[in-house]
Amino acid sequence: MIAHRDNLTKLNQSVGFVPTMGALHSGHLSLVKKSSDLNNTTIVSIFVNPSQFSKGEDLDKYPRQLEADLALLRSIGGVDCVFAPDEKEMYPGNALCHVEPSDFSAICEGQARPDFFRGVATIVCKLFNIVRPTASYFGQKDISQCILLQRMVRDLNMQVAVRVCATLRESDGLAMSSRNVYLSPSERAVAPVLFKALNEAKLFCETSGRVVTRPEVQARVNAVLATEPQVSQVEYVSFASHENMKEVDKFDFAAGGGAVLSSAIRIGKVRLIDNVLIGSAHSAISN
Ligand code: AMP
Repeated sequence: MIAHRDNLTKLNQSVGFVPTMGALHSGHLSLVKKSSDLNNTTIVSIFVNPSQFSKGEDLDKYPRQLEADLALLRSIGGVDCVFAPDEKEMYPGNALCHVEPSDFSAICEGQARPDFFRGVATIVCKLFNIVRPTASYFGQKDISQCILLQRMVRDLNMQVAVRVCATLRESDGLAMSSRNVYLSPSERAVAPVLFKALNEAKLFCETSGRVVTRPEVQARVNAVLATEPQVSQVEYVSFASHENMKEVDKFDFAAGGGAVLSSAIRIGKVRLIDNVLIGSAHSAISN
């Protein structure tokens, strides 16, 4: 990979990079398309990163289907190279250094998954150092990851653009995810309730004509989720700043405010996440 990248430098090619954990679906492919539209070369990585899974999480069960992923990427075209390292190559052991985001572990995904953000920041930093992309493409679906990585490249002076691309959805609004295959037919039928709940609260924020508070916004989301008995758990409903994902107490749309409303729920045993950008957050993040 490093030798290949050295050649691209000699050829003065811009390199777009799409890091993934495989089990590719149309959401991933939309990032690939964006990258190949905007760069001479597109590199996709496929690596199920163990350091972002906490104990007891679904690391062993995470779907792995390299051959099918490669066939899919070949069929859509536009990808010049797939980097699919094995675990030993990425983590030979005894590492002294990691990328540790401060003040991030209590945020959204970090609450239920304490190792998540350090794992994500560290692996993306390592992949950036190997691939040395001009620009990288991430899905808004994982919004706290996007904001963290935009901060990482800024804080650590990394010369790569972090582009945030719209979440690709099924026709009923459910965000595409590798985990959706675990939903039973009846669970799948109710899964769009998450996006619906977030959108109703977003509408409330943007049309109320007054300052709205976090408890009000959270209550709107919870009220819609409560209409669906198959929602077995609401892990969090976060109403946060688009700059650092810290919770905000209130939101003033008239004053040009922006916020990220995100949530993780379980339907049966399947964990689903989604988010909406409110007010000026959209223009601030989707650069
Ligand atoms: P993953 O393989 O789950 O780590 O995802 C790899 C990249 O694809 C991440 O940047 C995700 O945010 C992005 N992604 C996952 N699902 C979607 C989706 N439905 N629409 C757009 N991007 C997505």
